[in-house]
Amino acid sequence: MRFTFLIFSLVLCVSLNAQNFSRQDTLRGSITPEREWWDLTYYHLSIKTDIDNKFLKGTNLVQYKVLKPAQRMQIDLQSPMRITKVTQEGKTLKVEQDGNAYFIELSQKQTKNSVNEILIEFEGNPVISKNPPWSGGVTWKKDSNGLDFIATSCQGDGASLWWPNKDHMYDEVDSMLISVTVPEHLMDVSNGRLRSVDQNADKTKTYNWFVNNPINNYGVNMNIGDYVHFSEVFDGENGPLDCDYYVLRENLYKAKEQFKQASLMLKAFEHWFGPYPFYEDSYKLVEVPYLGMEHQSSVTYGNKYANGYLGRDVSGSGWGLKFDFIIIHESGHEWFANNITYKDMADMWVHEGFTSYSENLYVDYHFGKEASQDYVVGIRKNIVNDRPIIGTYGVNASGSSDMYYKGANMLHNIRTIIENDEKWRGILRGLNKEFYHQTVTTAQIENYISKMAGIDLSKVFDQYLRDTMIPEFEYSFEGSKLTYQWKKVVNGFDMPLDIMVNGKKVRIKPSTKAQTKKFDNTIQTVEVDRNYYVMNKQIKK
Ligand SMILES: [Zn+2]
Repeated sequence: MRFTFLIFSLVLCVSLNAQNFSRQDTLRGSITPEREWWDLTYYHLSIKTDIDNKFLKGTNLVQYKVLKPAQRMQIDLQSPMRITKVTQEGKTLKVEQDGNAYFIELSQKQTKNSVNEILIEFEGNPVISKNPPWSGGVTWKKDSNGLDFIATSCQGDGASLWWPNKDHMYDEVDSMLISVTVPEHLMDVSNGRLRSVDQNADKTKTYNWFVNNPINNYGVNMNIGDYVHFSEVFDGENGPLDCDYYVLRENLYKAKEQFKQASLMLKAFEHWFGPYPFYEDSYKLVEVPYLGMEHQSSVTYGNKYANGYLGRDVSGSGWGLKFDFIIIHESGHEWFANNITYKDMADMWVHEGFTSYSENLYVDYHFGKEASQDYVVGIRKNIVNDRPIIGTYGVNASGSSDMYYKGANMLHNIRTIIENDEKWRGILRGLNKEFYHQTVTTAQIENYISKMAGIDLSKVFDQYLRDTMIPEFEYSFEGSKLTYQWKKVVNGFDMPLDIMVNGKKVRIKPSTKAQTKKFDNTIQTVEVDRNYYVMNKQIKK
């Protein structure tokens, strides 16, 4: 998620301010000594909602494996939520608070390879999201029948906005039980599969959702409303995949029509990326009172049951109105964000670049290659080249919003360089296999692509991810001679280019030194293949 289409100026403003990093940013964004000694294995998050008071109270049972002996553990929870008590085997532990980080002193000896648990009690009025999903928090709304309609979203700000956890992306919990207690006339939909519903004496119900796969913290969500449910089974690469849809009662008819795109999405993305990564947990679309988010196996939807991005085509090519942007984009994240997850937010392009790119692969699958090229070339108008795509490491900071459209165009560029669509598809599927259910660095992704392509693409990645210059192809021609070179490129930039000379395609290898190539006939026209994201400049002789 995190589009900047509508609120670009806001994001820019936030990102410029983000250069002054605090101790709190480091505690949040780095693998501190109090984090690195233990490996998360299981959470049981249990929350009771007090909707009238916009208040949450609950517990999180944190199970972990000791990687090396240590006694001090960091758990995160952002104010105004607070941890009220931490116990281990019934014994209350000493806790020191440092802003949003809580340091827990474990009294029992932590022996290597042992698996232990702590129980965290917490409560408070979580931050109300001012602009979901771009600013994190809880959204408290009513549906048209006056019934409560509530959802959480916390990408970037982090799940510690509303529940206590190890809030760093590098360590995903292996499985998780989410128990949410709501008034009995409402339903909670969270991640994974609904295991059971408990009817409580106080006219509440507890919904128990179990996630059977590793999940990142911001992917965890709770959605509460007067939901109705319908479902289908998708005949997928790994067999039958349960698809469940939870929507407001008033939108059932519209949803049954619009959500037909879910199976079209699964068809396209299984083709390009390989099997849906969470068959055990099913696939869900859940209506929410905001635009949408890639919550794992519980993709949230608020695109008003219309095609495009809130009815608009982000590409301007026309193809963006052929699909529901939120169904396609947020579900694309199941492969890139939820299956393959960045370790550090600086590498967020791994989520957004690939997922932005997935939109044109959807178009490619259903409408053909030409259409997909129109789409990906069309989204270039949204690129701003303000700062590099890769952000600052260790402080939970992302790079430029160009991670979306420029990231997508860089990948399209690489597809064009490779010039073999089956090989490229093999690489995309290979990524999802090689890094299945893992957290990764950009280097791992870059190296894998270069290795499998059999082409050193390191300078291409440097150019587009670590710099703001767009390569400029400078050329001139006279008679049958074409002279050309790269300008505005990183040191050692190495990328072939396809050009059309008199309408005929030629692959050349420009460098920063001028080269001259002689053609058989007098040159009339030179055109650069539009699939490369480069500028071109003709020098008239
Ligand atoms: Zn996204």
